[in-house]
Amino acid sequence: MRPDIPTLLHDIFGFPGFRGVQEQVVGRVMEGQATLAIMPTGAGKSLCYQLPSVALEGCCVVISPLIALMHDQLRAAQAVGIRAASLTSVDADWRETQDRLRSGDLDLLYVAPERASGEGFRTLLRSARIALFAIDEAHCVSEWGHDFRPDYRLLRPLLDEFAHVPRLALTATADAHTREDILVQLGIPREGMIIAGFDRPNIRYAVHPRDGLPRQLADLAAANPGPGIVYAPTRAATEKLADGLARTGRPVRVYHAGLDPQVRAANQAAFIASEDMVMVATIAFGMGIDKPDVRFVAHAGLPKSIEGYYQESGRAGRDGEPAQAHLYWGAEDFARARQRIAELDPTRQQGERARIAALGALVETGTCRRAILLRHFGESPPATCGNCDNCMSPPASIDATQTAQKFLSA
Ligand code: ADP
Ligand code: MG
Repeated sequence: MRPDIPTLLHDIFGFPGFRGVQEQVVGRVMEGQATLAIMPTGAGKSLCYQLPSVALEGCCVVISPLIALMHDQLRAAQAVGIRAASLTSVDADWRETQDRLRSGDLDLLYVAPERASGEGFRTLLRSARIALFAIDEAHCVSEWGHDFRPDYRLLRPLLDEFAHVPRLALTATADAHTREDILVQLGIPREGMIIAGFDRPNIRYAVHPRDGLPRQLADLAAANPGPGIVYAPTRAATEKLADGLARTGRPVRVYHAGLDPQVRAANQAAFIASEDMVMVATIAFGMGIDKPDVRFVAHAGLPKSIEGYYQESGRAGRDGEPAQAHLYWGAEDFARARQRIAELDPTRQQGERARIAALGALVETGTCRRAILLRHFGESPPATCGNCDNCMSPPASIDATQTAQKFLSA
């Protein structure tokens, strides 16, 4: 059975969506491609190997430079149910861990570079099934890096012996020299380098109160002749909005999980090939789809979370050319969210409330939308970006009703 990545992401890690380049990195790893991921601290590098470690057949070997770091990660992985262990000088259960590795009972195995490069460890790996090598803090392999660790240099023969096993190098800190060096030292092709940074400066963000959505979408599509995606909250809504748009003469397709798989695949293929189609879809659409020239993404209702919004709207303008992200919302979105939260298990309510509150801040702000998004991901952006609705035409005064806040606190 092929594992469903979005389901694993949600069920194991409890995350509503990928952040930034995680989706791209995980996609490459799942396809077995050598990758160097450069992502700021806090961006979520661990997920990039932990998720594949569960999805892939076999064990993911993580090379990490510090025992303390390893054990923190180990505990966190075990806490969400990942079968994880480490082989370090302070671990007492080596025999058990080795047996588990050989019998396929481990998703993740943490080791230090000096151990990983040793002959004993290679012998052990030969008797196990290995799915992935993840090299954390990969800048340690470079003398250019600020933290050179000669032991990292000894990893290459191990990686090359298991040449069929994909390798993923991860680091937060890499200047141009260090990046080049990591690629060379670890044998990763240049196109395997993925650099995060959450800003997508070519995307213009705008938020609108919903006010006759079919007309609003028709106007949006008329002003934007290139390919676009409209995310609708339900399957029924995708069909209805697609009908409305089709009547304007625009080529339109729909995509949701209720469609026959063949229809879905055909619609997706048509959209990818098209230069003017609008895809009206649920959020089932998009993961792993690489269409660089999407010119606009519209949300017909409140997204599930800021992460989800960033990920979905981020499908616009991957080619770096100007693109737009429009969010249409109404007070009833918040009322519905509150209702949904009330029906949840109490342990999940607080987190979901925080997600909705963060969306409330995004849609109701009179200040820079991009700054709100980027701060959510731990960046410190300038106060104005010059390329969102509020920065381009600052609102005269902020609506005193504060609709979302009212619904959240009621
Ligand atoms: P890094 O190693 O890049 O500094 P971590 O892997 O330690 O970052 O992750 C930083 C934090 O981000 C962790 O608390 C993690 O749970 C959280 N996180 C990772 N991915 C996501 C995601 N897709 N959605 C929400 N939170 C995430
Ligand atoms: Mg980390």
